[in-house]
Amino acid sequence: MLKNLNKINIFIFLSYFLLLSLIISQNILSVSHDRFIQENELLNYNRKPYFKLEDIDKIEECVPVAILGGGPGALSAAIYCGRSRIPAYVFMGPNPGGQLIQTSYVENIPGVKRQFGAEIIETMTDQAINFGAHLLEETIIEIDFSDSSKPYKLTTSEGKTISALAVIIATGSSPRKLGIQGEDKYWGRGVAICALCDCTLFTGLDVAIIGGGDAAIEEATLLSSYARQITIFVRKEKMRAAESMQDKLAQYPNVKVVYNKVPLEIEGDEQVVTALKYMDTENNNKIETIPVSGVFLAIGSNPNSQMFAPHLALNKNGYIITDRHQETSAPRVFAAGDVSDAIFRQAVIASATGTIAGLNATALLKNGGFTFNVMEKLSPKLYRSAKKNAFKKVNLN
Ligand code: NDP
Repeated sequence: MLKNLNKINIFIFLSYFLLLSLIISQNILSVSHDRFIQENELLNYNRKPYFKLEDIDKIEECVPVAILGGGPGALSAAIYCGRSRIPAYVFMGPNPGGQLIQTSYVENIPGVKRQFGAEIIETMTDQAINFGAHLLEETIIEIDFSDSSKPYKLTTSEGKTISALAVIIATGSSPRKLGIQGEDKYWGRGVAICALCDCTLFTGLDVAIIGGGDAAIEEATLLSSYARQITIFVRKEKMRAAESMQDKLAQYPNVKVVYNKVPLEIEGDEQVVTALKYMDTENNNKIETIPVSGVFLAIGSNPNSQMFAPHLALNKNGYIITDRHQETSAPRVFAAGDVSDAIFRQAVIASATGTIAGLNATALLKNGGFTFNVMEKLSPKLYRSAKKNAFKKVNLN
C-alpha cells in the first residue's frame, strides 16, 4: 500500500514537473519570437514625409535629397539615392573627399586591396555621378528647421536658398587641436596635421608627432621617408592604435615612441618651430624640451556638427544622435559617417551608414508618393547650380 502511494506521488510530481517545463519553454519561445518580430518590424522603414507632395508645385530651387559633405558617407548616400532613381544634390562643402583624401594607403576596406585614399574617393565620386548625383562645390551654412511639415530651407554660403524634401548630413569631423601655447602662432610654420600634404617640407629634419592612435602611426610611416628622426609622443603609458599598426613601426628605424609625455608648449624663433616642451609624467613631472622643426598633431577629431547643435539631438561630445535608420531627431533629416559616429570612425562605416541614410531618405520620399512622374513634374523647379557637377575629379596631388 505504502509502495503504491509512493509511486502515485512520484507520478504526480513528474507530471507537474513536465507541465511546468512545458509552460516555461513556451513562454521563453514566445518572448524570443516577439522580440524577433519587433526587431524585424524595426528593420522595415515605413516612415512617410509629413508634407503634401502637391505642395511641390509651389517650390522653387528644389532638390529631392540634399546631402551635406564630401567624404565616403556623403558619396555612398549619393550612390544609393541614385540607385533608387532619386538624384541627390551633394553640397561638398569645404573638404571635398573628407579625411580619407588625406590618408595615404588604405588597406582595411574589405574587398579593396591596398589603395590610396584619394583614389578610393575618386572612384566613389565617379560612381555617384554615374548614378545621377549632382556634386556641387558649394557649402550649406544654414538649415531652417522651424517647420518640419514643409521642405527644409537650406542657405548656401553664396546666399542662395534651396528647398530640400529630405536632408542627409555627412559633414564628417575635423582634426582636434592641443590648445597649447605656440600652436596657433606656428600653425603652418612647423605645426601641421597632414603628413601626406607636408612631408617633403621636413626632409632631413627632426619632427615630433603627438598622439597614440592609428593616425599617429600613419603620419610616422609617411614622414619616415623624409624626416631624419621622428618621435611619437604618447601621453599615457600605452598607445591606443591597433596592435597590427604598432607592429609596423619596427620597420622604421628612424621612428621612436616615447610614453607618458604630455605636450606643454610649441617653441619657435618667431618664424618657425624650433622645439617642443613637454612634461615627463613618469619622471616626477619633469619639464623637458626636445629640439624639433615640426610638430604633427594626430590627436583625434571633433564632429562637424556645430551648425546643428540648436536644432538636432547631439550627444555630450557633439555627435549627432540617430536611430538605427540613421534618422536624426528632426523628421526627414538623416546623418551618416563621422559626424554621427562617436566610436568607430572608419571609412567603411561611413559608407555603410551613408548607404542606410540614402536608402531610407529615398524610401521615405517614395512612401510619400514621390514617383517618377512627380520627379518629371518637379524637373523645371530643380535647383540649377552654376556649378553643376563642377566637382568631377579629386586632386590627387
Ligand atoms: P584616436 O581618437 O584613435 O586617437 C587619438 C590619440 O590622441 C589618442 O592616443 C589620445 O590619447 C591622443 N590625444 C588626444 N588628445 C590629446 C592631447 N591633448 N594631448 C596628447 N595626446 C592626446 O584618433 P585617430 O585620429 O588616431 O583615429 C581616429 C579613427 O580613425 C580611429 O577609429 C582609427 O582606427 C581610424 N584611423 C584608421 C587608420 C587606418 O586604419 N589606416 C588611419 C588613421 C585613423 P589617449 O589614448 O590617452 O586618449
